Amino acid sequence: MEYVKSHIREVKDFPTPGILFYDLTTAFKDPRALHIIGWDLSQLYRDKGITKVVGIESRGFIGGSILAFELGAGFIPARKPGKLPADVIRKDYGKEYGKDIIEIHRDAITPDDVVLIHDDVLATGGTMKAAYELVKSLNPKKIYINFIIELSALEGRKVLPDDVDITSLLKY
Ligand code: AMP
Repeated sequence: MEYVKSHIREVKDFPTPGILFYDLTTAFKDPRALHIIGWDLSQLYRDKGITKVVGIESRGFIGGSILAFELGAGFIPARKPGKLPADVIRKDYGKEYGKDIIEIHRDAITPDDVVLIHDDVLATGGTMKAAYELVKSLNPKKIYINFIIELSALEGRKVLPDDVDITSLLKY
């Protein structure tokens, strides 16, 4: 993990003053770091019977796709408004820097699914909470939550449900 950490670029005051941005593009472009991230993430869920991985736009699409492929699951994009072509359900939410809306296709998840929701970074938790509520409203059998990076000081876990299994590869 030290190898991966050393490949994450920390950018001050992006996208707004006061935010320290954890840039994973520098880890994703390094073949060994990308391999470690993909392998270690998927090892956490091998025995969980995951049938669908939900990746949150847009940085969650990268790890989410790798997870889906490695676990033999389907991939579902949770997208910004107006991007998905068919019938959607949506949620408004606040995040570390600003407000947003997230949507998924209404037919993306069925009650026999075991769903893993993935995003790159847990900051205040607003984004994941919105994604969780959307997925939950479609009544899957079980929901897991995963991040590559958790910014512990922002206490994002506190806004997420207590009874859900949440993992992160790296804590800052
Ligand atoms: P939040 O809803 O506050 O947990 O914000 C999480 C979302 O915003 C994730 O999709 C991240 O990609 C992005 N994000 C928030 N804060 C940061 C940060 N400091 N560095 C990198 N990405 C961040």
